[in-house]
Amino acid sequence: SECSGTEELKAKVVPEIKFTKLFINGQFVDAVSGNTFETVDPRTGEVLATVAAGDKADVDLAVKAARHAFDRGPWPRLAGRERAKILMKFADLIDAHAEELATLDSLDAGKLFALGKLLDIPDSAETLRYFAGAADKIHGETLKMSGEMQGYTLREPIGVAGLIIPWNFPSTMFFVKVSPALAAGCTVIVKPAEQTPLSALFYANLAKEAGIPDGVLNVITGFGPTAGAALSSHMDVDKISFTGSTEVGRLVMEAAAKSNLKSVTLELGGKSPLIIFDDADVDMAGEVCVAASRVFVQEGIYDEFVRKSAEKAKSWRVGDPFDPSVDQGPQVDEGQFQKVLSYIEHGKTEGATLLTGGKRCGEKGYYIEPTIFTDVKDDMKIAREEIFGPVMSIMKFKTIEEAIERANNTRYGLAAGVVTNNINTANRMSRSVRAGNIWVNCYFAFDRDCPFGGFKMSGFGKDNGLAALDGFLLTKSVVTPVYDSPW
Ligand code: NAD
Repeated sequence: SECSGTEELKAKVVPEIKFTKLFINGQFVDAVSGNTFETVDPRTGEVLATVAAGDKADVDLAVKAARHAFDRGPWPRLAGRERAKILMKFADLIDAHAEELATLDSLDAGKLFALGKLLDIPDSAETLRYFAGAADKIHGETLKMSGEMQGYTLREPIGVAGLIIPWNFPSTMFFVKVSPALAAGCTVIVKPAEQTPLSALFYANLAKEAGIPDGVLNVITGFGPTAGAALSSHMDVDKISFTGSTEVGRLVMEAAAKSNLKSVTLELGGKSPLIIFDDADVDMAGEVCVAASRVFVQEGIYDEFVRKSAEKAKSWRVGDPFDPSVDQGPQVDEGQFQKVLSYIEHGKTEGATLLTGGKRCGEKGYYIEPTIFTDVKDDMKIAREEIFGPVMSIMKFKTIEEAIERANNTRYGLAAGVVTNNINTANRMSRSVRAGNIWVNCYFAFDRDCPFGGFKMSGFGKDNGLAALDGFLLTKSVVTPVYDSPW
């Protein structure tokens, strides 16, 4: 692969970072403790901004504001279309600031600027619009019931929601959670990842400008074991929607169980298989393989696939995320960088063959070469554990039965990909693989109207789609007698 960005910083000059404080009850405020933390530019490892480190005391204040806004404020009481109007305005403000927001995410997370500006940011606005469109279509059922009784159901917002998100898609994740919650009439406290706090604070400011009432959307920046844990164990929080690692998802569920039994949605890690059959178009398979961590290739096209993957990895450009010709930016921080490199070492010592990559890229920043291992066995660490970096393992298989069995031989069930030109193979695989999302002849395809969420230890509940809205609603059954009914 070509490694460029570390040497010559293509960066635009770092813009002024306007928002670095907690956002509680419509105001930017310092943490009660006065503590702060630093977020770094992963291109250089240098400090980008110093941000307020929220903790239990701040979470208490934010929950109090959100509770008041829910119990007494206008937001949950507005007609759905009134909430929708405000959310639409919020979406327009995002579009108006797309350049600045994409810059923030590139600086903070190392995400490709061109992709952010073209996809992540406009997609975030579209997600908001999708759920805004659903806000006035929330309704229950009428039930005849037996005897002289009738019933109906009300769909009510669940209350105060804590939204805890990871660093890999700072903007997308923010709106995947915030949009259905606000459309449902909930009030929220967002805890962005400590690696990527900046765009969340920017969104808080836009929410205020759009007219979202104080207390409805709060943002607490800070660390997981402090701010995140305070939120998930809070007695006045009604729901946590969490995206992150399986390990932390377990802590969130434990905290919910030990406090008020708040409801929980978990979108966790994965070790998603991509299964490529002999009849597939190899070039197409090569295009979609980039994000898959376990790639199973049928023996007939194995050699050709391996050769083409190596070629592709060699032409892959790793460098400054602001350089439009770059395919891959840096890892988000030192911790993630070291973790990925240590998995690569495991792959080597466990006996997998290193086909390409395997090293850091340049001397500065958190860049890693796209790395491909072949001859990977199912029980190797690199085949079992989530790496969350540019490392792919290629395995060979013979029959469809073997592919199903090995694809399912994991504790995770987030997603899977199937590449084949045989409709029967595609159908059988789609039904046999135990994962929440199956991509046939594509990979990593998302849309706001398509529910997303894993099976098994990848979690439960859905982001996106009307299923996500359901996650922020409660069903109340109302029953009343009816006298002298003709029926
Ligand atoms: P992480 O679990 O370490 O952190 C996620 C969030 O949880 C962060 O905001 C963090 O501060 C917070 N947190 C940490 N400890 C906490 C605690 N004790 N209580 C409450 N909150 C706490 O994950 P990460 O490293 O930021 O993100 C990578 C992980 O996210 C990967 O495992 C990846 O698969 C997963 N992920 C899953 C999906 C999905 O949709 N299933 C999407 C993106 C990322």
